Amino acid sequence: MSDAQSGQDPAAQPMVDVIVVGAGLAGLCAANSLQARGRRVLVLEARDRIGGRVYTRRTASGEPVEMGAQWLNPGHDHMFALVERAGLELVAPMLGDSAVMLEGRVARVAPDPDSKRTGMTPFEVADLGQGLLRLHHLSDRVNDNEPWAEANSAWLGQPFDRWMRSNLRTPGGKAAFQHVLGRAVGLISPESTLIETLHRVAGRDLDSLAAVNAGLQQRRVKGGMAQVCEFLAEPLADQVHLGAVVASVTVGDAAITVTTAEGESFTARDVIVAVPPRVVDAITFEPALPEWRSDLVREVPPGNVIKAALIYDTPWWRERGMSGQVGTDAGPLRVMSDSSNVGSTLGVLTGFFEGPEASGLGRWTVSLRERTFTDTVHTVFGADVPTPLEYVDVDWSSERFTGGCHGAHFAPSVWTAVASSLGAPEGHVHFAGAEYASRFTGYLEGALRSGKEVADRITKR
Ligand SMILES: Cc1cc2nc3c(=O)[nH]c(=O)nc-3n(C[C@H](O)[C@H](O)[C@H](O)COP(=O)(O)OP(=O)(O)OC[C@H]3O[C@@H](n4cnc5c(N)ncnc54)[C@H](O)[C@@H]3O)c2cc1C
Repeated sequence: MSDAQSGQDPAAQPMVDVIVVGAGLAGLCAANSLQARGRRVLVLEARDRIGGRVYTRRTASGEPVEMGAQWLNPGHDHMFALVERAGLELVAPMLGDSAVMLEGRVARVAPDPDSKRTGMTPFEVADLGQGLLRLHHLSDRVNDNEPWAEANSAWLGQPFDRWMRSNLRTPGGKAAFQHVLGRAVGLISPESTLIETLHRVAGRDLDSLAAVNAGLQQRRVKGGMAQVCEFLAEPLADQVHLGAVVASVTVGDAAITVTTAEGESFTARDVIVAVPPRVVDAITFEPALPEWRSDLVREVPPGNVIKAALIYDTPWWRERGMSGQVGTDAGPLRVMSDSSNVGSTLGVLTGFFEGPEASGLGRWTVSLRERTFTDTVHTVFGADVPTPLEYVDVDWSSERFTGGCHGAHFAPSVWTAVASSLGAPEGHVHFAGAEYASRFTGYLEGALRSGKEVADRITKR
């Protein structure tokens, strides 16, 4: 077969079995798994580091700080198994009260002493807070606006459980919400309607509701999540090329040629595109990918998050009996958590600027973002907190090779109707990544499962 027939560039490197585009968790998992089964693989990574949205950054103070993915939750079984295989240790969240700030009022949320679980993720704290707030507003409305309650009696007659499931987003937030309500107003039977529950909640203030809660499980990796990626990359050694921005993928009759922006070409039988769906468009495919793929991805709003960290000479919030977990309902910084490293004397508070505020703040200077973070810390904990040693952040929406985070949010109907087909291969061009996973979409667990599934599919073929 001639080079022209195979689609091969004469200057190309020796052909491998599989080229993986992107050394994030999904790409590394796929490459590692294929190599373990005897396939020759090559990984082309655009950045000068592996990991993608897993990014443990060493700050000027020498602290490893998670600027990307950090938490593992119950059900993330493949991730837990991988962490164990890598010989890494898991860290439980700090015990202590969380803070929920709603409508300018700060409530301390104590961990449940009866629970075997330890602490909540910041997202769960925020979810719990939003759920409580909605319930309160609804309760006020029902009591203060009889004509409205009358007009909406059918809706108010729905099972309370259904309302809760559609108004809280995280399993942990829902479990804590049920626990908080149970402790505050007594057992809510499964048959209770929304209106019955609203009557029981009426007149109770937020603080009395939030004064108790169930702690929930979450874990992070001691020393940083990036070690998981390093573990997967280790056996791949020189087969991972950093700074290799893939510009085009050309499918020939018997081989696929992948060319970088620098003009280097590589050939393989199969290619796994393990980059976030919205940056796939930056790669030219020959023949072109079906248009519905990019149409669908364009429909999905990219997340917009800046992850930030304040580093202190001590985790001072612990002395106040606080866990460092904070959820707020307003302002640009909605969640915070204690991300201090085990064995370090320094204190690390991480926080997320999210949504429209994050897009505005992305255009601000770093010092203004730092100021916004410290102002929120003052509002929640009081003005008498120490001055931080350092501030760091990553604006993920301005990261060219990520294009927003945490990931694409497909609406449920969009997901079931079409988005699940996004993960299907186009001939010998395969797709892997957190957004292609049918379970744990957008999470580390989803990325890992997706990488493994693609590797299995290629091996079986
Ligand atoms: C701030 C933040 C916090 C998060 N927190 C959590 C958490 O606590 N728990 C959790 O489970 N998940 C979390 N996530 C989500 C999690 O990080 C992702 O689901 C997961 O890391 C995605 O892995 P991936 O391999 O699919 O994609 P990525 O990690 O995005 O990897 C894609 C790789 O492709 C590379 N690439 C892109 N374009 C090209 C190109 N043209 N050529 C070559 N290479 C290219 C990129 O540089 C990148 O390395 C978080 C994400 C962010 C950003």
